[in-house]
Amino acid sequence: MTATPELTSTTRPEELQLQGVGMRVTIGVFIVIPLLAVVAAIPVAWGGWLSWVDVLLLVGFYALTAIGITIGYHRYFTHGSFKAGRATKIALAITGSMALQGSIRQWVADHRKHHKYSDEVGDPHSPWRFGTTPRAVAKGLYYAHVGWLFDEQQSTIEKWAPDIKADKDLEAVSRWFPAIVAASLLLPAVLGGLITWSWVGALTAFFWAGLLRIALVHHITWSINSICHVFGKRPFNSRDMSSNVWWLSVPSLGESWHNLHHAEPTAARHGVFKGQIDPSAVIIRGMERARLVHDVRWPKPERIVGKLVDPSMAHRVRGYRAPVDTAS
Ligand SMILES: [Zn+2]
Ligand SMILES: [Zn+2]
Repeated sequence: MTATPELTSTTRPEELQLQGVGMRVTIGVFIVIPLLAVVAAIPVAWGGWLSWVDVLLLVGFYALTAIGITIGYHRYFTHGSFKAGRATKIALAITGSMALQGSIRQWVADHRKHHKYSDEVGDPHSPWRFGTTPRAVAKGLYYAHVGWLFDEQQSTIEKWAPDIKADKDLEAVSRWFPAIVAASLLLPAVLGGLITWSWVGALTAFFWAGLLRIALVHHITWSINSICHVFGKRPFNSRDMSSNVWWLSVPSLGESWHNLHHAEPTAARHGVFKGQIDPSAVIIRGMERARLVHDVRWPKPERIVGKLVDPSMAHRVRGYRAPVDTAS
Protein backbone atom coordinates (compact mmCIF):
# COMPACT_ATOMS: atom_id res chain seq x y z
CA MET A 1 0.00 0.00 0.00
CA THR A 2 1.41 3.39 -0.90
CA ALA A 3 0.62 6.74 0.59
CA THR A 4 -1.17 9.23 -1.60
CA PRO A 5 0.60 12.35 -2.81
CA GLU A 6 -2.28 14.48 -1.45
CA LEU A 7 -0.76 14.02 1.98
CA THR A 8 1.71 16.86 2.35
CA SER A 9 3.04 19.10 5.05
CA THR A 10 0.85 21.88 3.69
CA THR A 11 -2.33 20.03 4.67
CA ARG A 12 -3.69 22.09 7.56
CA PRO A 13 -6.76 21.67 9.75
CA GLU A 14 -8.51 24.81 8.61
CA GLU A 15 -8.75 23.41 5.09
CA LEU A 16 -10.61 20.36 6.26
CA GLN A 17 -14.26 19.76 6.85
CA LEU A 18 -14.05 17.09 9.51
CA GLN A 19 -16.56 17.79 12.17
CA GLY A 20 -19.35 16.35 10.03
CA VAL A 21 -21.80 13.65 10.94
CA GLY A 22 -19.92 11.01 8.92
CA MET A 23 -16.80 11.39 11.05
CA ARG A 24 -18.67 11.05 14.29
CA VAL A 25 -20.47 7.96 13.03
CA THR A 26 -17.14 6.39 12.06
CA ILE A 27 -15.71 6.98 15.50
CA GLY A 28 -18.86 5.60 17.06
CA VAL A 29 -18.69 2.40 15.07
CA PHE A 30 -15.04 1.64 15.79
CA ILE A 31 -14.64 2.74 19.35
CA VAL A 32 -17.75 3.72 21.22
CA ILE A 33 -20.10 0.89 20.20
CA PRO A 34 -17.82 -2.00 21.31
CA LEU A 35 -17.28 -0.19 24.61
CA LEU A 36 -21.02 0.37 25.06
CA ALA A 37 -21.62 -3.33 24.39
CA VAL A 38 -19.25 -4.18 27.23
CA VAL A 39 -20.86 -1.61 29.54
CA ALA A 40 -24.31 -3.03 28.69
CA ALA A 41 -23.11 -6.52 29.61
CA ILE A 42 -22.01 -5.42 33.09
CA PRO A 43 -25.44 -5.40 34.84
CA VAL A 44 -26.30 -8.73 33.21
CA ALA A 45 -23.05 -10.30 34.37
CA TRP A 46 -22.85 -8.59 37.77
CA GLY A 47 -22.94 -11.00 40.71
CA GLY A 48 -22.51 -14.00 38.44
CA TRP A 49 -19.96 -13.62 35.69
CA LEU A 50 -18.51 -10.37 37.06
CA SER A 51 -17.47 -9.55 40.63
CA TRP A 52 -15.42 -6.94 42.50
CA VAL A 53 -12.45 -9.31 42.23
CA ASP A 54 -12.72 -9.18 38.42
CA VAL A 55 -13.03 -5.38 38.48
CA LEU A 56 -9.97 -4.94 40.72
CA LEU A 57 -7.91 -7.38 38.64
CA LEU A 58 -9.05 -5.64 35.44
CA VAL A 59 -8.02 -2.21 36.75
CA GLY A 60 -4.74 -3.55 38.19
CA PHE A 61 -3.64 -5.36 35.04
CA TYR A 62 -4.84 -2.48 32.86
CA ALA A 63 -2.72 -0.02 34.84
CA LEU A 64 0.33 -2.30 34.90
CA THR A 65 0.38 -3.05 31.18
CA ALA A 66 -0.69 0.43 30.04
CA ILE A 67 2.19 1.85 32.13
CA GLY A 68 4.47 -0.62 30.35
CA ILE A 69 3.40 0.97 27.05
CA THR A 70 3.18 4.67 27.97
CA ILE A 71 6.16 4.95 30.32
CA GLY A 72 8.16 1.97 29.00
CA TYR A 73 7.72 1.46 25.26
CA HIS A 74 6.83 5.09 24.51
CA ARG A 75 8.40 7.70 26.81
CA TYR A 76 11.49 5.64 27.75
CA PHE A 77 12.46 3.22 24.97
CA THR A 78 11.27 5.35 22.01
CA HIS A 79 11.95 8.89 23.19
CA GLY A 80 14.48 8.57 26.05
CA SER A 81 12.50 10.95 28.30
CA PHE A 82 14.50 9.68 31.30
CA LYS A 83 17.30 7.30 32.21
CA ALA A 84 16.71 4.12 34.19
CA GLY A 85 18.72 1.47 35.98
CA ARG A 86 18.89 -2.07 34.64
CA ALA A 87 16.16 -3.56 36.87
CA THR A 88 13.72 -0.73 36.03
CA LYS A 89 14.50 -1.06 32.32
CA ILE A 90 13.79 -4.82 32.38
CA ALA A 91 10.61 -4.33 34.44
CA LEU A 92 9.31 -1.74 31.93
CA ALA A 93 10.21 -4.07 29.03
CA ILE A 94 8.28 -6.97 30.60
CA THR A 95 5.16 -4.97 31.56
CA GLY A 96 5.13 -3.36 28.09
CA SER A 97 5.42 -6.78 26.45
CA MET A 98 2.46 -7.93 28.57
CA ALA A 99 0.24 -5.51 26.59
CA LEU A 100 0.68 -7.73 23.51
CA GLN A 101 1.62 -4.91 21.14
CA GLY A 102 4.59 -6.76 19.67
CA SER A 103 8.30 -6.61 20.36
CA ILE A 104 9.87 -3.44 21.76
CA ARG A 105 12.18 -3.06 18.76
CA GLN A 106 9.34 -3.11 16.19
CA TRP A 107 7.14 -0.82 18.30
CA VAL A 108 9.99 1.68 18.76
CA ALA A 109 10.96 1.53 15.05
CA ASP A 110 7.36 2.16 13.91
CA HIS A 111 6.87 4.98 16.39
CA ARG A 112 10.13 6.79 15.64
CA LYS A 113 9.27 6.62 11.93
CA HIS A 114 5.82 8.02 12.78
CA HIS A 115 7.44 11.06 14.43
CA LYS A 116 9.90 11.58 11.58
CA TYR A 117 7.24 11.54 8.82
CA SER A 118 4.20 12.45 10.90
CA ASP A 119 1.12 12.73 8.62
CA GLU A 120 3.31 12.81 5.54
CA VAL A 121 4.37 10.11 3.09
CA GLY A 122 6.35 7.54 5.11
CA ASP A 123 4.23 7.73 8.30
CA PRO A 124 3.29 4.09 9.12
CA HIS A 125 -0.15 5.05 10.42
CA SER A 126 -1.44 8.46 9.36
CA PRO A 127 -5.24 8.83 9.20
CA TRP A 128 -4.60 11.31 6.33
CA ARG A 129 -3.06 8.60 4.14
CA PHE A 130 -5.93 8.39 1.68
CA GLY A 131 -6.70 12.08 1.34
CA THR A 132 -8.70 14.78 3.09
CA THR A 133 -12.29 14.22 1.96
CA PRO A 134 -14.60 12.89 4.71
CA ARG A 135 -14.73 9.51 2.98
CA ALA A 136 -10.92 9.31 2.70
CA VAL A 137 -10.48 10.31 6.35
CA ALA A 138 -13.02 7.69 7.47
CA LYS A 139 -10.93 5.08 5.66
CA GLY A 140 -7.76 6.66 7.08
CA LEU A 141 -9.11 6.56 10.65
CA TYR A 142 -9.64 2.82 10.37
CA TYR A 143 -6.18 2.38 8.84
CA ALA A 144 -4.49 4.46 11.57
CA HIS A 145 -6.44 2.67 14.30
CA VAL A 146 -5.82 -0.94 13.34
CA GLY A 147 -5.51 -1.49 9.57
CA TRP A 148 -1.81 -0.52 9.44
CA LEU A 149 -0.93 -3.47 11.67
CA PHE A 150 -1.86 -5.80 8.81
CA ASP A 151 0.27 -3.91 6.30
CA GLU A 152 3.34 -5.91 5.33
CA GLN A 153 5.55 -2.86 5.01
CA GLN A 154 7.37 -2.57 8.35
CA SER A 155 9.79 0.01 9.63
CA THR A 156 13.26 -1.54 9.54
CA ILE A 157 14.72 -2.12 12.98
CA GLU A 158 18.33 -1.66 11.80
CA LYS A 159 17.53 1.86 10.68
CA TRP A 160 15.04 3.03 13.30
CA ALA A 161 15.88 1.13 16.51
CA PRO A 162 19.55 0.03 16.43
CA ASP A 163 19.98 0.97 20.11
CA ILE A 164 17.13 -1.34 21.14
CA LYS A 165 18.45 -4.14 18.94
CA ALA A 166 21.93 -3.86 20.50
CA ASP A 167 20.64 -4.13 24.09
CA LYS A 168 21.25 -7.66 25.40
CA ASP A 169 18.67 -7.40 28.21
CA LEU A 170 15.95 -6.36 25.75
CA GLU A 171 17.04 -9.17 23.44
CA ALA A 172 16.43 -11.61 26.32
CA VAL A 173 12.98 -10.10 27.03
CA SER A 174 12.16 -10.53 23.30
CA ARG A 175 13.17 -14.20 23.46
CA TRP A 176 10.79 -14.67 26.40
CA PHE A 177 7.94 -12.88 24.60
CA PRO A 178 5.73 -16.02 24.17
CA ALA A 179 6.07 -16.82 27.88
CA ILE A 180 5.29 -13.19 28.82
CA VAL A 181 2.15 -13.31 26.64
CA ALA A 182 1.05 -16.54 28.37
CA ALA A 183 1.69 -14.98 31.78
CA SER A 184 -0.29 -11.85 30.84
CA LEU A 185 -3.30 -14.01 30.00
CA LEU A 186 -2.98 -16.62 32.75
CA LEU A 187 -1.90 -14.52 35.77
CA PRO A 188 -5.34 -12.85 36.14
CA ALA A 189 -6.98 -16.28 35.94
CA VAL A 190 -4.65 -17.75 38.57
CA LEU A 191 -5.19 -14.78 40.91
CA GLY A 192 -8.98 -14.79 40.34
CA GLY A 193 -9.10 -18.51 41.06
CA LEU A 194 -7.00 -18.25 44.22
CA ILE A 195 -8.81 -15.20 45.64
CA THR A 196 -12.31 -16.66 45.09
CA TRP A 197 -11.09 -20.25 45.49
CA SER A 198 -13.25 -21.30 42.55
CA TRP A 199 -12.95 -22.32 38.90
CA VAL A 200 -15.64 -19.80 37.95
CA GLY A 201 -13.55 -17.06 39.58
CA ALA A 202 -10.57 -18.13 37.45
CA LEU A 203 -12.66 -18.14 34.28
CA THR A 204 -14.29 -14.73 34.82
CA ALA A 205 -10.94 -13.13 35.77
CA PHE A 206 -9.46 -14.64 32.60
CA PHE A 207 -12.21 -12.98 30.55
CA TRP A 208 -12.35 -9.53 32.21
CA ALA A 209 -8.77 -8.98 33.41
CA GLY A 210 -7.12 -11.07 30.69
CA LEU A 211 -8.91 -10.88 27.32
CA LEU A 212 -11.01 -7.74 27.75
CA ARG A 213 -8.18 -5.80 29.44
CA ILE A 214 -5.83 -6.55 26.53
CA ALA A 215 -8.48 -5.37 24.04
CA LEU A 216 -9.03 -2.16 26.03
CA VAL A 217 -5.31 -1.30 26.22
CA HIS A 218 -5.02 -2.01 22.46
CA HIS A 219 -7.92 0.28 21.54
CA ILE A 220 -6.76 3.13 23.76
CA THR A 221 -3.20 2.93 22.38
CA TRP A 222 -4.51 2.84 18.81
CA SER A 223 -6.82 5.79 19.54
CA ILE A 224 -3.72 7.96 19.94
CA ASN A 225 -2.76 7.10 16.34
CA SER A 226 -6.27 7.59 14.97
CA ILE A 227 -8.38 10.03 17.05
CA CYS A 228 -5.41 12.13 18.28
CA HIS A 229 -4.39 12.90 14.69
CA VAL A 230 -7.88 13.98 13.52
CA PHE A 231 -10.03 15.42 16.32
CA GLY A 232 -9.30 17.70 19.25
CA LYS A 233 -7.33 20.89 19.83
CA ARG A 234 -3.97 22.00 18.45
CA PRO A 235 -2.61 24.71 20.76
CA PHE A 236 1.03 23.98 19.81
CA ASN A 237 2.98 24.42 16.61
CA SER A 238 3.76 21.01 15.20
CA ARG A 239 4.18 20.25 11.53
CA ASP A 240 1.48 17.56 11.57
CA MET A 241 -2.16 16.99 12.50
CA SER A 242 -1.54 15.76 16.06
CA SER A 243 -4.13 16.97 18.57
CA ASN A 244 -4.97 17.10 22.28
CA VAL A 245 -8.05 15.05 23.22
CA TRP A 246 -9.03 15.65 26.86
CA TRP A 247 -11.52 12.78 27.26
CA LEU A 248 -8.85 10.19 26.48
CA SER A 249 -6.37 11.59 29.03
CA VAL A 250 -7.29 9.27 31.94
CA PRO A 251 -7.58 5.93 30.07
CA SER A 252 -4.52 6.74 27.93
CA LEU A 253 -2.56 7.72 31.07
CA GLY A 254 -1.80 11.16 29.62
CA GLU A 255 -0.83 10.12 26.11
CA SER A 256 -3.77 11.91 24.48
CA TRP A 257 -2.09 15.33 24.98
CA HIS A 258 -0.63 14.29 21.67
CA ASN A 259 -0.28 17.73 20.06
CA LEU A 260 2.18 18.77 22.80
CA HIS A 261 3.95 15.42 22.42
CA HIS A 262 4.63 16.04 18.72
CA ALA A 263 5.73 19.61 19.48
CA GLU A 264 8.13 18.41 22.23
CA PRO A 265 8.64 14.62 21.76
CA THR A 266 11.26 13.97 24.45
CA ALA A 267 9.35 15.65 27.32
CA ALA A 268 8.45 13.22 30.14
CA ARG A 269 5.19 15.13 30.72
CA HIS A 270 2.63 15.52 27.90
CA GLY A 271 -0.12 17.34 29.82
CA VAL A 272 1.67 20.69 30.23
CA PHE A 273 -1.32 22.99 30.82
CA LYS A 274 -2.57 23.49 34.38
CA GLY A 275 -5.27 20.93 35.11
CA GLN A 276 -4.33 18.55 32.28
CA ILE A 277 -4.27 15.05 33.75
CA ASP A 278 -1.13 13.06 32.92
CA PRO A 279 -0.99 9.92 35.12
CA SER A 280 2.19 8.67 33.39
CA ALA A 281 4.02 11.88 34.35
CA VAL A 282 2.82 11.53 37.96
CA ILE A 283 4.18 7.97 38.06
CA ILE A 284 7.50 9.02 36.48
CA ARG A 285 7.78 11.72 39.18
CA GLY A 286 7.20 9.03 41.83
CA MET A 287 9.82 6.78 40.21
CA GLU A 288 12.24 9.72 40.18
CA ARG A 289 11.68 10.34 43.90
CA ALA A 290 12.19 6.60 44.56
CA ARG A 291 15.46 6.88 42.56
CA LEU A 292 14.29 4.26 40.06
CA VAL A 293 14.79 6.73 37.20
CA HIS A 294 17.01 9.81 36.79
CA ASP A 295 17.85 12.60 34.34
CA VAL A 296 14.14 13.05 33.63
CA ARG A 297 13.47 15.54 30.82
CA TRP A 298 10.70 17.60 32.42
CA PRO A 299 9.26 20.18 30.03
CA LYS A 300 10.75 23.68 30.45
CA PRO A 301 7.87 26.19 30.76
CA GLU A 302 9.63 28.93 28.73
CA ARG A 303 10.36 26.48 25.92
CA ILE A 304 6.75 25.20 25.93
CA VAL A 305 5.41 28.78 25.80
CA GLY A 306 7.62 29.36 22.74
CA LYS A 307 5.77 26.60 20.93
CA LEU A 308 2.27 27.99 21.52
CA VAL A 309 0.26 29.01 18.45
CA ASP A 310 -1.39 31.72 20.54
CA PRO A 311 1.19 33.28 22.95
CA SER A 312 -1.60 34.75 25.08
CA MET A 313 -2.24 31.22 26.38
CA ALA A 314 1.13 31.30 28.22
CA HIS A 315 -0.57 31.69 31.63
CA ARG A 316 -2.07 28.22 31.18
CA VAL A 317 1.35 26.49 31.05
CA ARG A 318 2.32 24.76 34.30
CA GLY A 319 5.12 26.52 36.15
CA TYR A 320 5.30 29.47 33.73
CA ARG A 321 5.96 32.87 35.24
CA ALA A 322 5.61 35.84 32.92
CA PRO A 323 8.73 38.03 32.98
CA VAL A 324 8.22 41.10 35.16
CA ASP A 325 8.17 44.30 33.15
CA THR A 326 10.88 46.38 34.84
CA ALA A 327 10.47 49.36 32.47
CA SER A 328 7.19 50.53 33.99
ZN1 LIG B 1 1.35 10.88 16.64
ZN1 LIG C 1 5.91 9.53 20.54
